[in-house]
Amino acid sequence: MKSIVVFCGSSEGVNPVYATKGYEVGVAFSKQDIQLVYGGAKIGVMGKVAQGVLDNGGKVIGVIPIFLRKKEVVHEGLTELIVTQNMHERKLKMHGLSDGIVMLPGGFGTLEEFFEMLTWSQLGLHQYPIGILNTNGFYDSLLKMMHDMVKEGFVKKEYINTIFVDDDIDSLLGKMENYIPLPTPKWINKEQL
Ligand code: AMP
Repeated sequence: MKSIVVFCGSSEGVNPVYATKGYEVGVAFSKQDIQLVYGGAKIGVMGKVAQGVLDNGGKVIGVIPIFLRKKEVVHEGLTELIVTQNMHERKLKMHGLSDGIVMLPGGFGTLEEFFEMLTWSQLGLHQYPIGILNTNGFYDSLLKMMHDMVKEGFVKKEYINTIFVDDDIDSLLGKMENYIPLPTPKWINKEQL
């Protein structure tokens, strides 16, 4: 993996561990020479991840829709900032620039972006490894829900097995590196969305 898109909160959360671990993700990326692709803001856990990469000489591409440029308080020190017309273009762009996906703690926006990429994977639109950094057990209840979906017959077991979970970023990246993609029934491209 040379470039990973990270989805995480535009807030820092109440426990400082989320920001601290976010920064550590950035440090790990720069050490492993992985480019960060993210939402382009300097606030929240997102801002901490970007700062962790930049402080250690790594590369960061921010992708932000024009209407969020002010609201999300753009990070001015990025390697590159791409401004898109809307959210859809943003997600497509982020996807096109990455070869792996990681979710850190966040809110509705984080979940929306993550699940869209996950469903693209199910549809065979990409074969990127997908990871969840489960800092402080934040995603325990979501993971339980996802396993309940398998148990109740709404998600195939092979799909949930493609998601890697860890509370340590180096260990998570190691698991993702060894990912062997599922054979997809049909390769369709994003133009068909
Ligand atoms: P949040 O997890 O809600 O703090 O949001 C994290 C990121 O998700 C931010 O960069 C938001 O711009 C983005 N976001 C918020 N709402 C949405 C949405 N409806 N669709 C896609 N991304 C969103």
